[in-house]
Amino acid sequence: MKIYTKNQLKIYNSLTKKKELFTPIEKGYVGMYVCGPTVYSNVHLGNVRTFMFFDVVYRYLLHLGYKVRYVRNITDAGHLENDADEGEDRIAKKARLEKIEPMEVVQRYTVDFHNVLDKYNFLPPSIEPTATGHIVEQIEMIKEIIDKGFAYEVNGSVYFDVLKYNKEGGDYGILSGRKMEDAIHNTRALDGQSDKKNPQDFALWKKADKRHIMRWTSPWSDGFPGWHLECSVMSSKYLGEQFDIHGGGLDLKFPHHECEIAQSKTCSGVNPVNYWMHTNMLLLNSQKMAKSTGNYILPDEILTGENKILSKAFSASVVRFFNMQALYRGILDFSNDALVASEKGYHKLMEAVASLGKIEAGKISTFDVNTWKQKCYDAMNDDFNTPVFISHLFDAVKNINLIHDKKATITPEDLSTLKETLNAFVFDVLGLLDDTKTQSSDKIDGVVGLLIKLRNQARENKDWALSDQIRDELLAIGIQLKDGKEGTTFSMN
Ligand code: AMP
Ligand code: ZN
Repeated sequence: MKIYTKNQLKIYNSLTKKKELFTPIEKGYVGMYVCGPTVYSNVHLGNVRTFMFFDVVYRYLLHLGYKVRYVRNITDAGHLENDADEGEDRIAKKARLEKIEPMEVVQRYTVDFHNVLDKYNFLPPSIEPTATGHIVEQIEMIKEIIDKGFAYEVNGSVYFDVLKYNKEGGDYGILSGRKMEDAIHNTRALDGQSDKKNPQDFALWKKADKRHIMRWTSPWSDGFPGWHLECSVMSSKYLGEQFDIHGGGLDLKFPHHECEIAQSKTCSGVNPVNYWMHTNMLLLNSQKMAKSTGNYILPDEILTGENKILSKAFSASVVRFFNMQALYRGILDFSNDALVASEKGYHKLMEAVASLGKIEAGKISTFDVNTWKQKCYDAMNDDFNTPVFISHLFDAVKNINLIHDKKATITPEDLSTLKETLNAFVFDVLGLLDDTKTQSSDKIDGVVGLLIKLRNQARENKDWALSDQIRDELLAIGIQLKDGKEGTTFSMN
């Protein structure tokens, strides 16, 4: 039986709004660019959803045998409040509030981002460029856009002329589907306070006011680049004028990615990206998870259980499993109950993977492993349909359990295919971690739960010495008990 893999992958292209057969440009590698975080605060679980999905895309492409050059940037300058062309730089604002240097803010939250990626088992990208490391290239691109006649300078700032671009054959609005009158940036141009000719125009370079510390010398002013420019510059520098995949969250479609297309196309004359991919939002309390509204949960809080939404701590793999049980193009509601359900499924899967090593082969197979394998690939090849993929993994779980209980059999050849494939899917493609750690954390939950019970009995018997001893000795090994209205909980450090 032929196993279709590489040549069958279909990707939903946000630009054409169709699923298209993935045909990489012949460069010897697949080029993938994903917009990275703006490092002015800790990444929240919504950001993690987006980055985790592209981690799985990267993993699957590698699994299919592609060589991939994966570029994910760090935005450390130029991203203003409200994604606007006016207002304070997010990083500079944080630095002002915390009375530290902007680069201290950048360092702190870049380190935090990397810690999260480590704990959640992400593969590192091939290149992780920063905006501040590419100021020279950004100035060069602005000069090129001015030379081509699509940008103008006013009072030391430079703006992209969207109306002229479209009048001369440009396609601003093509990605987001916005009409010109709706393609207006958060701007003061509407009330005549801006230097822009039209409210649709966006900044390529901003003159810095006196208090703005993050500034660089340019032909136009001491200032800083516009937020959208860095991604055009860094993607073309590392992946070429045209590359295969560009990803990010849905909220980046407009204006960020729309502006990227206009900038890149002005310089190169070609469409920069063949497949645009956008992840949908993770919601909390039915609202988009976002730092600005305070409606968020941090990845570290999941691991410690220290958030009032959570009944307990969950492992990073449970969060991965939870994310992958949903289609990336749909919204996903975060809740404690959903994580509890995912944890059950994840444990079932891991137990089956562990018991695979112990089962014995027989003379015949009652489970058609090759058809199963094909179905798994078909699901992933259907625009990374991870929920269907996972449902097929559970067909394997059901059969493994039957074989284990001697209610079904499998030939040695099929057993070896099953082991190899399931391990590759679970660990390499989904990026789940071995569950030994999770199992031991379950055991800790059980043991501490028992001690809490014994302490409660001691308190009922007014045996304060014993109850204090349990609390203090747990604290000495880093387990803190907390007495609340709903009973006693614990946290670990
Ligand atoms: P930012 O640092 O704000 O540029 O965000 C980094 C990435 O996270 C971008 O691709 C965003 O689109 C994405 N993102 C932000 N909020 C959410 C959310 N609630 N759910 C999923 N992705 C998100
Ligand atoms: Zn970007």
